[in-house]
Amino acid sequence: MTQSEEDALKVIQQKPEGVLQSDLWKILEVDSRKCSRIVKKLLDSGMIERIEFRKDGIKTFILKAQRRPVDPGQLLAGEELIPCIACDLECDVVECAKLLDWMYQLAICDAGE
Ligand code: SF4
Repeated sequence: MTQSEEDALKVIQQKPEGVLQSDLWKILEVDSRKCSRIVKKLLDSGMIERIEFRKDGIKTFILKAQRRPVDPGQLLAGEELIPCIACDLECDVVECAKLLDWMYQLAICDAGE
Protein backbone atom coordinates (compact mmCIF):
# COMPACT_ATOMS: atom_id res chain seq x y z
CA MET A 1 0.00 0.00 0.00
CA THR A 2 1.42 3.43 -0.92
CA GLN A 3 1.75 6.25 1.61
CA SER A 4 -1.13 8.13 -0.09
CA GLU A 5 -3.39 5.08 0.16
CA GLU A 6 -2.48 4.64 3.84
CA ASP A 7 -3.19 8.31 4.52
CA ALA A 8 -6.54 8.10 2.73
CA LEU A 9 -7.49 4.94 4.62
CA LYS A 10 -6.65 6.57 7.96
CA VAL A 11 -8.83 9.59 7.14
CA ILE A 12 -11.71 7.31 6.15
CA GLN A 13 -11.31 5.01 9.18
CA GLN A 14 -11.40 7.98 11.55
CA LYS A 15 -14.90 8.89 10.39
CA PRO A 16 -17.38 6.07 10.96
CA GLU A 17 -20.07 8.18 9.27
CA GLY A 18 -17.91 8.25 6.12
CA VAL A 19 -16.06 10.89 4.13
CA LEU A 20 -17.27 12.52 0.94
CA GLN A 21 -14.92 11.73 -1.93
CA SER A 22 -15.21 15.38 -2.92
CA ASP A 23 -13.75 16.31 0.50
CA LEU A 24 -11.13 13.56 0.64
CA TRP A 25 -8.88 14.96 -2.06
CA LYS A 26 -8.91 18.35 -0.36
CA ILE A 27 -7.99 16.77 2.99
CA LEU A 28 -5.18 14.79 1.36
CA GLU A 29 -4.09 17.81 -0.67
CA VAL A 30 -4.04 15.86 -3.93
CA ASP A 31 -5.97 16.53 -7.14
CA SER A 32 -9.29 14.79 -7.76
CA ARG A 33 -7.82 12.44 -10.40
CA LYS A 34 -5.15 11.17 -8.04
CA CYS A 35 -7.78 10.83 -5.33
CA SER A 36 -9.91 8.70 -7.69
CA ARG A 37 -6.96 6.37 -8.28
CA ILE A 38 -6.35 6.06 -4.53
CA VAL A 39 -10.03 5.36 -3.89
CA LYS A 40 -10.10 2.73 -6.65
CA LYS A 41 -7.13 0.91 -5.09
CA LEU A 42 -8.80 0.91 -1.67
CA LEU A 43 -12.08 -0.28 -3.20
CA ASP A 44 -10.34 -3.05 -5.15
CA SER A 45 -8.58 -4.26 -2.02
CA GLY A 46 -11.88 -4.35 -0.12
CA MET A 47 -10.72 -1.87 2.52
CA ILE A 48 -13.53 0.61 1.90
CA GLU A 49 -17.01 0.79 0.42
CA ARG A 50 -18.45 3.58 -1.72
CA ILE A 51 -22.02 4.82 -1.55
CA GLU A 52 -23.48 7.20 -4.13
CA PHE A 53 -24.46 10.58 -2.68
CA ARG A 54 -25.75 13.90 -4.04
CA LYS A 55 -24.48 17.15 -2.56
CA ASP A 56 -26.10 20.34 -3.90
CA GLY A 57 -27.36 18.30 -6.87
CA ILE A 58 -23.85 17.13 -7.72
CA LYS A 59 -23.10 13.43 -7.65
CA THR A 60 -20.29 12.35 -5.34
CA PHE A 61 -19.66 9.38 -3.07
CA ILE A 62 -19.47 8.65 0.62
CA LEU A 63 -16.48 6.49 1.45
CA LYS A 64 -16.64 4.23 4.49
CA ALA A 65 -14.14 1.81 5.93
CA GLN A 66 -15.18 -1.82 5.70
CA ARG A 67 -15.75 -3.47 9.00
CA ARG A 68 -13.68 -6.56 9.43
CA PRO A 69 -14.05 -9.34 11.94
CA VAL A 70 -11.47 -9.13 14.71
CA ASP A 71 -8.93 -11.90 14.84
CA PRO A 72 -9.69 -13.61 18.22
CA GLY A 73 -5.94 -14.07 18.70
CA GLN A 74 -5.62 -10.30 19.04
CA LEU A 75 -7.82 -10.40 22.16
CA LEU A 76 -5.52 -12.75 24.01
CA ALA A 77 -2.30 -12.18 25.90
CA GLY A 78 -1.23 -15.79 26.35
CA GLU A 79 -4.32 -17.35 27.93
CA GLU A 80 -5.62 -14.06 29.26
CA LEU A 81 -8.53 -12.42 27.47
CA ILE A 82 -8.50 -8.63 27.14
CA PRO A 83 -10.27 -7.25 30.25
CA CYS A 84 -12.50 -4.87 28.27
CA ILE A 85 -14.73 -7.76 27.31
CA ALA A 86 -17.57 -7.84 29.81
CA CYS A 87 -16.10 -4.88 31.72
CA ASP A 88 -18.66 -2.75 33.52
CA LEU A 89 -16.27 -0.17 34.98
CA GLU A 90 -16.48 3.47 34.02
CA CYS A 91 -13.94 3.42 31.25
CA ASP A 92 -10.79 5.49 31.32
CA VAL A 93 -8.53 3.76 28.83
CA VAL A 94 -5.46 5.89 29.61
CA GLU A 95 -5.60 5.22 33.36
CA CYS A 96 -6.95 1.68 33.37
CA ALA A 97 -4.74 -0.60 35.50
CA LYS A 98 -6.54 -3.75 34.29
CA LEU A 99 -5.79 -2.92 30.69
CA LEU A 100 -2.22 -1.92 31.51
CA ASP A 101 -1.62 -5.27 33.28
CA TRP A 102 -3.03 -7.09 30.29
CA MET A 103 -0.77 -5.12 27.94
CA TYR A 104 2.29 -6.01 30.06
CA GLN A 105 1.20 -9.63 29.84
CA LEU A 106 0.93 -9.25 26.07
CA ALA A 107 4.42 -7.75 25.87
CA ILE A 108 5.83 -10.64 27.97
CA CYS A 109 4.10 -13.21 25.73
CA ASP A 110 5.34 -11.49 22.55
CA ALA A 111 8.88 -11.33 23.91
CA GLY A 112 8.76 -15.04 24.72
CA GLU A 113 7.86 -16.06 21.15
S1 SF4 B 1 -10.01 -0.03 29.40
FE1 SF4 B 1 -10.35 -0.78 31.48
S2 SF4 B 1 -12.18 0.25 32.21
FE2 SF4 B 1 -12.12 0.43 29.97
S3 SF4 B 1 -13.32 -1.31 29.22
FE3 SF4 B 1 -11.16 -1.92 29.27
S4 SF4 B 1 -10.90 -2.91 31.26
FE4 SF4 B 1 -12.78 -1.72 31.35
